[in-house]
Amino acid sequence: MVKFLRERFATMAPYHSAYLTEGVILNSNESPYSVPEELVAYMKERVGDLLVNRYPDTDSLELANAVAKVYDVKIENVVCGVGSDELIDCILGSTLEDGDKVLMPYPSFSMYSQFTQLNSGQMIKVPLKSDFTYDVTAIKEVVCKEQPKVIFLCNPNNPTGCIFTRDEIRSILEVAKGLVVVDEAYAEFSEKEISMIPYVNDYDNLIVLKTFSKAYALAGARVGYGIACEAVINLINTVRPPYNVNIFSQAIGTWAIEHRDIFLENARRIVDNRKMLEQGLRNLGLKPYPSEANFVWLTLPESVFEALEEKQIYIRKMKIEDSIYYRINAGTPEENNKLLEALKVLV
Ligand code: PMP
Repeated sequence: MVKFLRERFATMAPYHSAYLTEGVILNSNESPYSVPEELVAYMKERVGDLLVNRYPDTDSLELANAVAKVYDVKIENVVCGVGSDELIDCILGSTLEDGDKVLMPYPSFSMYSQFTQLNSGQMIKVPLKSDFTYDVTAIKEVVCKEQPKVIFLCNPNNPTGCIFTRDEIRSILEVAKGLVVVDEAYAEFSEKEISMIPYVNDYDNLIVLKTFSKAYALAGARVGYGIACEAVINLINTVRPPYNVNIFSQAIGTWAIEHRDIFLENARRIVDNRKMLEQGLRNLGLKPYPSEANFVWLTLPESVFEALEEKQIYIRKMKIEDSIYYRINAGTPEENNKLLEALKVLV
Protein backbone atom coordinates (compact mmCIF):
# COMPACT_ATOMS: atom_id res chain seq x y z
CA MET A 1 0.00 0.00 0.00
CA VAL A 2 1.34 3.43 -0.90
CA LYS A 3 1.72 5.14 2.47
CA PHE A 4 0.30 8.55 1.64
CA LEU A 5 -2.96 7.15 0.26
CA ARG A 6 -5.92 6.87 2.62
CA GLU A 7 -6.14 3.34 3.90
CA ARG A 8 -9.88 3.28 4.41
CA PHE A 9 -10.39 3.65 0.66
CA ALA A 10 -8.07 0.73 -0.13
CA THR A 11 -11.00 -1.70 -0.45
CA MET A 12 -12.69 0.51 -3.06
CA ALA A 13 -12.07 0.15 -6.79
CA PRO A 14 -11.78 3.05 -9.23
CA TYR A 15 -14.92 3.41 -11.31
CA HIS A 16 -14.36 1.91 -14.71
CA SER A 17 -16.67 1.45 -17.63
CA ALA A 18 -15.63 0.63 -21.19
CA TYR A 19 -16.48 3.51 -23.53
CA LEU A 20 -18.72 1.78 -26.04
CA THR A 21 -19.74 3.47 -29.26
CA GLU A 22 -20.47 0.47 -31.46
CA GLY A 23 -22.76 -2.52 -31.18
CA VAL A 24 -26.06 -2.86 -29.35
CA ILE A 25 -25.48 -0.91 -26.13
CA LEU A 26 -28.14 -1.80 -23.56
CA ASN A 27 -26.08 -1.68 -20.36
CA SER A 28 -26.18 1.91 -19.07
CA ASN A 29 -29.85 2.90 -19.19
CA GLU A 30 -29.10 5.58 -21.77
CA SER A 31 -31.51 6.72 -24.43
CA PRO A 32 -31.12 4.81 -27.71
CA TYR A 33 -32.18 7.96 -29.56
CA SER A 34 -29.90 10.89 -30.26
CA VAL A 35 -30.96 14.40 -29.31
CA PRO A 36 -33.49 16.33 -31.44
CA GLU A 37 -32.17 18.05 -34.59
CA GLU A 38 -33.47 21.35 -33.19
CA LEU A 39 -31.11 21.07 -30.21
CA VAL A 40 -28.14 20.42 -32.47
CA ALA A 41 -29.11 23.44 -34.61
CA TYR A 42 -29.55 25.61 -31.49
CA MET A 43 -26.14 24.65 -30.10
CA LYS A 44 -24.43 25.29 -33.46
CA GLU A 45 -25.91 28.77 -33.43
CA ARG A 46 -25.27 29.39 -29.72
CA VAL A 47 -21.72 28.05 -29.52
CA GLY A 48 -20.13 31.24 -30.94
CA ASP A 49 -21.86 33.43 -28.31
CA LEU A 50 -20.92 31.37 -25.29
CA LEU A 51 -18.09 33.06 -23.40
CA VAL A 52 -15.79 30.05 -23.09
CA ASN A 53 -12.89 32.30 -22.06
CA ARG A 54 -14.90 33.14 -18.92
CA TYR A 55 -16.05 30.81 -16.15
CA PRO A 56 -19.70 29.84 -16.47
CA ASP A 57 -22.38 31.21 -14.15
CA THR A 58 -21.48 29.44 -10.91
CA ASP A 59 -25.17 29.06 -9.95
CA SER A 60 -26.38 27.94 -13.41
CA LEU A 61 -29.08 30.58 -13.00
CA GLU A 62 -30.51 30.39 -16.53
CA LEU A 63 -30.92 26.63 -16.17
CA ALA A 64 -32.20 26.83 -12.58
CA ASN A 65 -34.72 29.46 -13.65
CA ALA A 66 -35.99 27.29 -16.52
CA VAL A 67 -36.29 24.31 -14.14
CA ALA A 68 -38.12 26.45 -11.54
CA LYS A 69 -40.62 27.65 -14.16
CA VAL A 70 -41.44 24.13 -15.34
CA TYR A 71 -42.11 22.84 -11.81
CA ASP A 72 -43.66 26.03 -10.46
CA VAL A 73 -41.11 26.45 -7.68
CA LYS A 74 -38.78 29.34 -6.84
CA ILE A 75 -35.24 29.52 -8.22
CA GLU A 76 -34.12 29.23 -4.56
CA ASN A 77 -35.58 25.71 -4.59
CA VAL A 78 -33.20 24.51 -7.33
CA VAL A 79 -29.55 23.40 -7.39
CA CYS A 80 -27.79 22.23 -10.57
CA GLY A 81 -25.04 19.65 -10.71
CA VAL A 82 -22.64 17.74 -12.94
CA GLY A 83 -25.20 15.01 -13.32
CA SER A 84 -27.21 14.00 -10.28
CA ASP A 85 -24.12 12.01 -9.24
CA GLU A 86 -22.44 15.22 -8.12
CA LEU A 87 -25.51 16.23 -6.15
CA ILE A 88 -25.57 12.86 -4.33
CA ASP A 89 -21.99 13.57 -3.28
CA CYS A 90 -22.82 17.16 -2.25
CA ILE A 91 -25.85 16.02 -0.23
CA LEU A 92 -23.73 13.57 1.74
CA GLY A 93 -20.82 15.99 2.01
CA SER A 94 -23.04 18.67 3.48
CA THR A 95 -24.85 16.31 5.86
CA LEU A 96 -22.58 13.61 7.27
CA GLU A 97 -20.23 13.62 10.22
CA ASP A 98 -17.86 10.63 10.51
CA GLY A 99 -19.78 7.38 11.05
CA ASP A 100 -23.25 8.86 10.48
CA LYS A 101 -25.81 6.39 9.20
CA VAL A 102 -27.25 6.45 5.69
CA LEU A 103 -30.06 4.16 4.52
CA MET A 104 -30.69 2.68 1.12
CA PRO A 105 -32.91 -0.17 -0.01
CA TYR A 106 -30.86 -2.91 -1.63
CA PRO A 107 -30.23 -3.43 -4.47
CA SER A 108 -30.46 0.19 -5.57
CA PHE A 109 -28.17 2.72 -7.28
CA SER A 110 -24.60 1.81 -6.36
CA MET A 111 -23.35 5.39 -6.10
CA TYR A 112 -25.35 5.91 -2.89
CA SER A 113 -23.04 3.54 -1.03
CA GLN A 114 -19.93 4.62 -2.92
CA PHE A 115 -20.43 8.29 -1.99
CA THR A 116 -21.45 7.36 1.55
CA GLN A 117 -18.12 5.59 2.00
CA LEU A 118 -16.22 8.51 0.48
CA ASN A 119 -18.00 10.90 2.87
CA SER A 120 -17.20 8.74 5.93
CA GLY A 121 -20.76 7.56 6.46
CA GLN A 122 -22.01 4.13 7.39
CA MET A 123 -24.45 2.53 4.94
CA ILE A 124 -27.43 0.52 6.17
CA LYS A 125 -28.99 -1.60 3.45
CA VAL A 126 -32.63 -2.68 3.71
CA PRO A 127 -33.23 -5.59 1.34
CA LEU A 128 -36.01 -5.48 -1.23
CA LYS A 129 -38.63 -8.22 -0.90
CA SER A 130 -37.91 -11.50 -2.69
CA ASP A 131 -40.00 -10.31 -5.67
CA PHE A 132 -37.73 -7.24 -5.92
CA THR A 133 -40.35 -4.75 -4.75
CA TYR A 134 -39.72 -2.22 -1.99
CA ASP A 135 -40.29 -3.39 1.58
CA VAL A 136 -41.81 -0.17 2.95
CA THR A 137 -42.60 -1.66 6.35
CA ALA A 138 -39.00 -2.79 6.82
CA ILE A 139 -37.68 0.59 5.63
CA LYS A 140 -39.86 2.43 8.17
CA GLU A 141 -38.84 0.09 10.97
CA VAL A 142 -35.14 0.64 10.25
CA VAL A 143 -35.66 4.40 9.87
CA CYS A 144 -37.37 4.55 13.31
CA LYS A 145 -34.69 2.40 14.95
CA GLU A 146 -31.57 3.90 13.37
CA GLN A 147 -32.71 7.41 12.42
CA PRO A 148 -30.26 7.70 9.50
CA LYS A 149 -29.01 11.16 8.55
CA VAL A 150 -29.83 10.50 4.89
CA ILE A 151 -32.31 8.08 3.25
CA PHE A 152 -32.09 7.31 -0.48
CA LEU A 153 -35.32 6.31 -2.20
CA CYS A 154 -34.79 5.61 -5.89
CA ASN A 155 -38.10 5.98 -7.74
CA PRO A 156 -38.29 4.02 -10.02
CA ASN A 157 -35.49 1.89 -8.68
CA ASN A 158 -32.27 1.29 -10.56
CA PRO A 159 -31.65 -1.65 -11.16
CA THR A 160 -34.97 -3.41 -10.52
CA GLY A 161 -37.59 -0.98 -11.90
CA CYS A 162 -39.91 -1.15 -8.87
CA ILE A 163 -41.56 1.99 -7.49
CA PHE A 164 -42.79 3.64 -4.31
CA THR A 165 -46.24 5.23 -4.36
CA ARG A 166 -46.46 8.83 -3.17
CA ASP A 167 -48.28 7.64 -0.05
CA GLU A 168 -45.46 5.22 0.74
CA ILE A 169 -42.90 8.02 0.44
CA ARG A 170 -45.06 10.27 2.62
CA SER A 171 -45.26 7.52 5.24
CA ILE A 172 -41.45 7.29 5.28
CA LEU A 173 -41.17 11.09 5.49
CA GLU A 174 -43.49 11.01 8.52
CA VAL A 175 -41.07 8.87 10.53
CA ALA A 176 -37.76 10.20 9.14
CA LYS A 177 -35.82 12.84 11.01
CA GLY A 178 -32.99 12.85 8.44
CA LEU A 179 -32.95 14.04 4.84
CA VAL A 180 -35.03 11.95 2.42
CA VAL A 181 -33.52 11.95 -1.08
CA VAL A 182 -36.02 10.84 -3.72
CA ASP A 183 -34.01 10.05 -6.83
CA GLU A 184 -36.32 10.43 -9.83
CA ALA A 185 -33.71 9.75 -12.54
CA TYR A 186 -36.19 7.43 -14.30
CA ALA A 187 -39.53 8.96 -13.25
CA GLU A 188 -40.34 10.17 -16.79
CA PHE A 189 -40.68 6.52 -17.81
CA SER A 190 -43.26 5.66 -15.15
CA GLU A 191 -46.89 5.60 -16.17
CA LYS A 192 -47.91 6.31 -12.58
CA GLU A 193 -48.00 9.73 -10.86
CA ILE A 194 -45.03 9.26 -8.55
CA SER A 195 -43.08 12.51 -8.60
CA MET A 196 -42.63 14.20 -5.23
CA ILE A 197 -41.60 17.53 -6.80
CA PRO A 198 -45.03 19.15 -6.16
CA TYR A 199 -44.52 18.49 -2.42
CA VAL A 200 -40.95 19.73 -1.84
CA ASN A 201 -42.14 22.80 0.03
CA ASP A 202 -44.36 20.73 2.34
CA TYR A 203 -41.28 19.13 3.94
CA ASP A 204 -38.05 20.54 5.32
CA ASN A 205 -36.28 17.18 4.82
CA LEU A 206 -37.18 16.22 1.25
CA ILE A 207 -35.05 16.64 -1.87
CA VAL A 208 -35.90 15.31 -5.32
CA LEU A 209 -33.04 14.60 -7.73
CA LYS A 210 -33.46 14.70 -11.49
CA THR A 211 -31.11 14.09 -14.39
CA PHE A 212 -30.95 14.93 -18.08
CA SER A 213 -29.04 11.69 -18.68
CA LYS A 214 -31.96 9.32 -19.25
CA ALA A 215 -35.28 10.55 -20.67
CA TYR A 216 -33.56 13.65 -22.10
CA ALA A 217 -30.88 11.63 -23.91
CA LEU A 218 -28.13 13.93 -22.60
CA ALA A 219 -25.89 11.57 -20.62
CA GLY A 220 -22.82 13.03 -22.35
CA ALA A 221 -23.64 16.56 -21.20
CA ARG A 222 -23.44 15.54 -17.49
CA VAL A 223 -26.15 17.73 -16.05
CA GLY A 224 -28.81 17.22 -13.40
CA TYR A 225 -30.64 19.15 -10.70
CA GLY A 226 -32.16 18.90 -7.28
CA ILE A 227 -35.37 20.49 -6.00
CA ALA A 228 -35.96 21.07 -2.27
CA CYS A 229 -36.89 23.72 0.28
CA GLU A 230 -34.54 26.70 0.34
CA ALA A 231 -32.70 25.62 3.52
CA VAL A 232 -31.71 22.25 2.02
CA ILE A 233 -30.58 23.91 -1.24
CA ASN A 234 -28.49 26.42 0.75
CA LEU A 235 -26.80 23.61 2.66
CA ILE A 236 -25.91 21.71 -0.53
CA ASN A 237 -24.56 24.93 -2.05
CA THR A 238 -22.04 25.21 0.79
CA VAL A 239 -20.14 22.18 -0.54
CA ARG A 240 -20.99 22.40 -4.25
CA PRO A 241 -17.79 23.22 -6.20
CA PRO A 242 -17.78 26.62 -7.89
CA TYR A 243 -18.59 26.73 -11.63
CA ASN A 244 -19.57 23.07 -11.48
CA VAL A 245 -21.80 22.88 -14.56
CA ASN A 246 -19.89 23.91 -17.69
CA ILE A 247 -21.18 26.61 -20.03
CA PHE A 248 -22.21 24.16 -22.80
CA SER A 249 -24.12 21.87 -20.45
CA GLN A 250 -25.96 24.82 -18.89
CA ALA A 251 -27.11 25.92 -22.37
CA ILE A 252 -28.04 22.38 -23.45
CA GLY A 253 -29.94 21.69 -20.22
CA THR A 254 -31.83 24.98 -20.45
CA TRP A 255 -32.93 24.27 -24.03
CA ALA A 256 -33.93 20.73 -23.07
CA ILE A 257 -36.12 21.69 -20.12
CA GLU A 258 -37.73 24.50 -22.14
CA HIS A 259 -38.59 21.94 -24.85
CA ARG A 260 -39.43 19.10 -22.53
CA ASP A 261 -42.48 17.95 -24.51
CA ILE A 262 -40.19 16.70 -27.30
CA PHE A 263 -38.25 14.61 -24.77
CA LEU A 264 -41.29 13.36 -22.90
CA GLU A 265 -42.74 12.08 -26.18
CA ASN A 266 -39.48 10.24 -26.77
CA ALA A 267 -39.70 8.79 -23.25
CA ARG A 268 -43.12 7.34 -24.16
CA ARG A 269 -41.54 5.72 -27.23
CA ILE A 270 -38.86 4.21 -25.02
CA VAL A 271 -41.55 2.82 -22.68
CA ASP A 272 -43.21 1.18 -25.71
CA ASN A 273 -39.82 -0.28 -26.63
CA ARG A 274 -39.43 -1.61 -23.06
CA LYS A 275 -42.85 -3.26 -23.29
CA MET A 276 -41.84 -4.83 -26.60
CA LEU A 277 -38.61 -6.08 -25.00
CA GLU A 278 -40.53 -7.51 -22.01
CA GLN A 279 -42.95 -9.34 -24.29
CA GLY A 280 -40.11 -10.68 -26.43
CA LEU A 281 -38.29 -11.95 -23.34
CA ARG A 282 -41.48 -13.59 -22.03
CA ASN A 283 -41.99 -15.26 -25.41
CA LEU A 284 -38.58 -16.87 -24.88
CA GLY A 285 -39.71 -18.21 -21.51
CA LEU A 286 -37.79 -15.58 -19.53
CA LYS A 287 -39.32 -13.71 -16.61
CA PRO A 288 -38.47 -10.00 -16.43
CA TYR A 289 -39.65 -8.40 -13.19
CA PRO A 290 -42.31 -5.64 -13.58
CA SER A 291 -40.58 -2.34 -14.38
CA GLU A 292 -41.64 1.30 -14.43
CA ALA A 293 -38.34 2.42 -15.92
CA ASN A 294 -36.53 2.17 -19.28
CA PHE A 295 -34.94 -1.17 -18.39
CA VAL A 296 -35.80 -4.66 -17.19
CA TRP A 297 -34.30 -6.88 -14.48
CA LEU A 298 -34.12 -10.61 -14.80
CA THR A 299 -32.12 -13.80 -14.45
CA LEU A 300 -30.58 -15.47 -17.48
CA PRO A 301 -28.94 -18.83 -18.04
CA GLU A 302 -25.21 -18.89 -17.37
CA SER A 303 -22.79 -17.82 -20.14
CA VAL A 304 -25.44 -15.81 -22.03
CA PHE A 305 -23.68 -12.57 -21.04
CA GLU A 306 -20.36 -13.56 -22.63
CA ALA A 307 -22.09 -14.97 -25.72
CA LEU A 308 -23.94 -11.68 -26.20
CA GLU A 309 -20.74 -9.68 -25.76
CA GLU A 310 -19.13 -11.71 -28.52
CA LYS A 311 -21.93 -10.48 -30.76
CA GLN A 312 -21.33 -6.90 -29.52
CA ILE A 313 -24.59 -6.88 -27.59
CA TYR A 314 -23.97 -5.32 -24.20
CA ILE A 315 -26.17 -5.79 -21.12
CA ARG A 316 -25.39 -5.23 -17.40
CA LYS A 317 -24.46 -8.14 -15.13
CA MET A 318 -24.84 -7.68 -11.36
CA LYS A 319 -24.06 -9.88 -8.39
CA ILE A 320 -26.61 -9.54 -5.60
CA GLU A 321 -25.66 -11.61 -2.56
CA ASP A 322 -24.74 -14.92 -4.18
CA SER A 323 -26.88 -14.65 -7.28
CA ILE A 324 -26.31 -13.11 -10.69
CA TYR A 325 -28.95 -10.87 -12.27
CA TYR A 326 -29.06 -8.85 -15.46
CA ARG A 327 -30.32 -5.38 -16.26
CA ILE A 328 -31.16 -4.65 -19.87
CA ASN A 329 -32.30 -1.22 -21.02
CA ALA A 330 -34.77 -0.81 -23.85
CA GLY A 331 -33.14 -0.12 -27.19
CA THR A 332 -34.77 0.89 -30.45
CA PRO A 333 -37.11 -1.81 -31.82
CA GLU A 334 -34.26 -2.87 -34.16
CA GLU A 335 -31.82 -3.19 -31.24
CA ASN A 336 -34.38 -5.08 -29.16
CA ASN A 337 -34.88 -7.48 -32.07
CA LYS A 338 -31.13 -8.07 -32.40
CA LEU A 339 -30.96 -8.95 -28.71
CA LEU A 340 -34.04 -11.18 -28.85
CA GLU A 341 -32.78 -12.97 -31.97
CA ALA A 342 -29.44 -13.61 -30.28
CA LEU A 343 -31.15 -14.84 -27.11
CA LYS A 344 -33.35 -17.25 -29.06
CA VAL A 345 -30.41 -19.59 -29.59
CA LEU A 346 -28.90 -19.01 -26.13
CA VAL A 347 -31.79 -19.62 -23.70
N1 PMP B 1 -29.51 8.16 -10.02
C1 PMP B 1 -29.75 6.99 -10.62
C2 PMP B 1 -30.81 6.12 -10.05
C3 PMP B 1 -29.03 6.60 -11.74
O1 PMP B 1 -29.27 5.42 -12.31
C4 PMP B 1 -28.03 7.46 -12.24
C5 PMP B 1 -27.19 7.11 -13.45
N2 PMP B 1 -26.96 5.84 -13.73
C6 PMP B 1 -27.82 8.65 -11.58
C7 PMP B 1 -28.57 8.98 -10.48
C8 PMP B 1 -26.74 9.59 -12.00
O2 PMP B 1 -27.07 10.19 -13.18
P1 PMP B 1 -26.23 11.38 -13.77
O3 PMP B 1 -25.06 11.60 -12.89
O4 PMP B 1 -25.87 10.96 -15.14
O5 PMP B 1 -27.19 12.54 -13.75
